[in-house]
Amino acid sequence: MSTTSPAGGWQEIGDRVFVRRYDFFDQEIGAILGDGEVLLVDTRSTAAQGRELRSDLRRLTAAPWRVVNTHHHFDHAFGNAVFRPAETWGLERCAERLRAGGEATIAELARDMPELAADLAETVVDPPDRTFTRRAELVVGGRPVELLHLGRGHTDNDIIVLVPDAGILFAGDLVEQGAPPSFGDSYPLDWPGTLGHVLDRAAGPVVPGHGDVVDADFVRGQLAEIALGAERARRVWPDLAATGAAAGGAAAGAPARRLTEDLARLLGWPRQVVAEALSRAFLQLRSEA
Ligand SMILES: [Zn+2]
Repeated sequence: MSTTSPAGGWQEIGDRVFVRRYDFFDQEIGAILGDGEVLLVDTRSTAAQGRELRSDLRRLTAAPWRVVNTHHHFDHAFGNAVFRPAETWGLERCAERLRAGGEATIAELARDMPELAADLAETVVDPPDRTFTRRAELVVGGRPVELLHLGRGHTDNDIIVLVPDAGILFAGDLVEQGAPPSFGDSYPLDWPGTLGHVLDRAAGPVVPGHGDVVDADFVRGQLAEIALGAERARRVWPDLAATGAAAGGAAAGAPARRLTEDLARLLGWPRQVVAEALSRAFLQLRSEA
C-alpha cells in the first residue's frame, strides 16, 4: 500500500474507480469518480476518521460527493455526518438499525475501545437519508452505479455497489480478505446463497470491506467455507435440539464443542469465530424449527 501517493493514498483499480486502505481494522474505502462528481463507498468509524477520509478524498478530487453505506456497522457508517449535507444512500434497514441502535453502539464502543472514547464522544450517528429496499440505480457524473441488496449474510442490510462500466464490485463485509468473515450480526445459513448472487455479478475486481482487493475465485472460496459451516450446523442441529443443548442460542454441549473444534481445524479459523458462526446458525435454525 502506498501512503505517499500524490492522490492521497488512493489506488486506481479500474477506470476512475479508487480504493484506499486504512490501518484501522484494515479497512478498504472506495471512491467512484464520474464527470464532476464522486461517490464515496463507506465513511469509516468516527468523526475524526471521517475527517481524515474527507481530506484524503479532497486530495483525489475537488468534485462534490455523494455517500453510500454498504451496511450499518460503525466502521462503515459512523463517519457519515462529516460528509453532510451530501446525500447518503443505504438500505432502509441499514438506516433503521442506525436510528435504533447507533447511540447504544457508541456507548458500547467507548467502553470496549477506550482509545476511541474521545473520538466517539464527538461522533454523531447520521443514518442514510436516501434509502431503498432492494435496488437503486445512481448516475454518478454520467456513470451508472447500481446498489443491490442480494439477501442476508454478514448482516440483514448488506448491499453491493456495482460499477458496470469498469466491471468492479464493492462487496462490503459480505467478503473479507486477510481475516475470517465476521459473524456477530450474521445469517450464516443465508450467507452462501447471497454470495452466489454476488458471484453472478462479479466480472472483475471485488473490493472487500477489509483487506486486499480480490476476485470471483476468492469469493467462491469464501462461499465454500461459510457453506461448510452452515451445512455442518444443519446436520448437528436435530441432535442438539433434541437434547436441549442449544437452548438459549449458545453452541453448548459436547457435540457443539466437537463441531467447533472440527470446523476450526478445517477452516483454519479461530475457535471463537467458529463458535460465533455456529451460535448465529443455531439461532436461525431454532426460529425455522
Ligand atoms: Zn461489518
